[in-house]
Amino acid sequence: MNLVRPKEPVIGRVVRSESCMAGRSASFVRHVEIDVSGTPLEGNFRVGQAFGVVPPGRDASGKLHAVRLYSIASPSWGEDGAGKVLSTTVKRVIDERKTDDPQVHDLFLGVCSNWLCDVPLEAEVAITGPSGKRFLLPSDTAAHDYVFVATGTGIAPFRGMIKELLEAPGGPCNSQIHLVLGVPYGTDLMYDDLFTSLDQAHDNFHYHTAISRPERGPRRYVDRAVVESSQIGELLQGDRTLLYMCGLKGMEEGIYRHMFDLGVVDQYLEWPDSIERDPANVGERKVRAGARCLLEVY
Ligand SMILES: Cc1cc2nc3c(=O)[nH]c(=O)nc-3n(C[C@H](O)[C@H](O)[C@H](O)COP(=O)(O)OP(=O)(O)OC[C@H]3O[C@@H](n4cnc5c(N)ncnc54)[C@H](O)[C@@H]3O)c2cc1C
Repeated sequence: MNLVRPKEPVIGRVVRSESCMAGRSASFVRHVEIDVSGTPLEGNFRVGQAFGVVPPGRDASGKLHAVRLYSIASPSWGEDGAGKVLSTTVKRVIDERKTDDPQVHDLFLGVCSNWLCDVPLEAEVAITGPSGKRFLLPSDTAAHDYVFVATGTGIAPFRGMIKELLEAPGGPCNSQIHLVLGVPYGTDLMYDDLFTSLDQAHDNFHYHTAISRPERGPRRYVDRAVVESSQIGELLQGDRTLLYMCGLKGMEEGIYRHMFDLGVVDQYLEWPDSIERDPANVGERKVRAGARCLLEVY
């Protein structure tokens, strides 16, 4: 961890940048690959970790821009198989500027995300990291089954993890693997072609989508998709399943409540004696994710 600190970033080069969305959408997400060869990050990052990007220039107060973190979307051996190229999934932050003055209503563009999406191929990127030590795959991947639940760019680490499990040089992992990806519109689905083709190629990999604002039909959120899948329910009842969640915090509660119905709440949550074991209390601060529940939520 932290082989490269924010005060002394090293230089990587963007070697690939392309939209990774299923169609035209009001949000814009790009898959960006960065060559880190010759830096301390080469061969020294793991899927589930993040790396930092320091955008060029200075902020409004004249200070150098702060580092922004991006989840690694490649397997631990990188996009190139040798740990020289890592990737991430960058969503452009675009908003209308909020100020106290109702006359001020111009466009707000997030500094780093838009810069990173705009940089041309071969451009230099100041990078740091890697960071994160808990949200990782286990060392013995075959000893577990997996439920991955993502909203939006929370898909980034799962792209890398699923590639690591299914495209391992020694042959694919035969464990059961379910991915649930939630986005507002069908056109927002990221890496949809990849997951669809992996689903078709591997009997043990199952790709589920949850569209919260569909053109037709009912709204569906990731927690509902988990509740409605009997296969995922059975897997969660297994004693070797790891549950990973990445994205919006809101997804947690519905899934934790479902654990009561499945009778597995103690397998995934650390529940202090001072709080009554009741679905109404899953949101309590002291109820924490246990060792089999890995979270990266915000
Ligand atoms: C561990 C971790 C992993 C991450 N992984 C990813 C990833 O894989 N992909 C990804 O895209 N992002 C990821 N992020 C988020 C990323 O680090 C950046 O925060 C994000 O890209 C926005 O940075 P920015 O420089 O574009 O926006 P900034 O210029 O930093 O702007 C965002 C800030 O502006 C404020 N703001 C938003 N709208 C307005 C407005 N209308 N008016 C005024 N202020 C406003 C917000 O409060 C926010 O603080 C991750 C973050 C963490 C902590």
